[in-house]
Amino acid sequence: MTDLIIIGAGPAGLASAIYALRAGLSVKVFEELSPGGQAAVTPEIENYPGIKSVSGADFALSLFEQAMSLGAQIEFETVLSITCDGNTKIVKTDALEHKAKAVIIANGAKRRKLNIKGEEEFSGRGVSYCAVCDGSFYKGGVVLVIGGGNTALEDALYLANICKKVYLVHRRDEFRATKNLIDKVKQNEKIEILFSFVLEKITGSDKVEQVSLVNTKSGETMKKEVNGVFVAIGLEPDNSRFENIVELENGYIKAGEDCKTSKAGIFAAGDTRTKAVRQVVTAASDGAVAATCAVEYINNIF
Ligand code: NAP
Repeated sequence: MTDLIIIGAGPAGLASAIYALRAGLSVKVFEELSPGGQAAVTPEIENYPGIKSVSGADFALSLFEQAMSLGAQIEFETVLSITCDGNTKIVKTDALEHKAKAVIIANGAKRRKLNIKGEEEFSGRGVSYCAVCDGSFYKGGVVLVIGGGNTALEDALYLANICKKVYLVHRRDEFRATKNLIDKVKQNEKIEILFSFVLEKITGSDKVEQVSLVNTKSGETMKKEVNGVFVAIGLEPDNSRFENIVELENGYIKAGEDCKTSKAGIFAAGDTRTKAVRQVVTAASDGAVAATCAVEYINNIF
């Protein structure tokens, strides 16, 4: 039996692995996509203390290499459920069943969808949820980013380096992103901000060609010819597979700063848990806390 299973190889999961391995636990990390989580697809991380600026991809690689160098075992399997047999936790994946003394759920959150006409139809054919992954397909083109948070503004800036024009559409007339990003966006001549607009539908033949927008104040409608639509309207939890074993609140796993869930021996770290601030640094610090509490739990119970 493994000492600790960690679900998710983003900053929370890999920080958990680093702390647990250094404390002498055997660790298995399950990841369904690629290591790094949301951080890996962030163009530039400029607010991680001690690192002035690093690309999300380099940051993710460095975290991954650090965990691997300490002996982390990473399995690319999708976790389907957790059950308990006494104090033993059984983690069922799409491949196997694995047993552990403790589990840290660090599966992050998934990108929210707009749920408008054309979104699903053109997903992968002009509609994207990741500027870093797909931006290069729109070199020299016209794209639209929707959202008013840090991700949307970072995506708009990233795409402005590649595309000839970027529309940045936000449903209110004030961004919620940090001031330095707002300043950079406002100074960028390639970015045109459309405040108080929402997307009504996305149309095209084979690929995205046009979007229809509606003004949230005046009801005015307009159309824009675009090659791509980047949806950056926030994240939502992805925890229904855990609702049988831990308490959820608005879809997030209910856990405090100690990362302890309603089930002893199961911890939640990073964006997946109820918390006020979702940042790379808070995810990483959750990883340290969850792993330390898991070590304490294992020493007390096993
Ligand atoms: P976010 O901060 O939750 O912002 C989501 C944005 O999308 C908001 O502006 C929201 O509008 C808008 N929105 C939500 N639903 C919408 C809908 N159905 N239609 C149109 N617009 C909609 O999400 P995020 O930018 O993805 O960031 C997620 C978390 O990661 C945040 O905590 C953020 O601070 C953090 N993050 C940090 C950094 C960084 O520090 N550099 C970078 C990226 C992300 P309203 O404003 O009107 O609600």
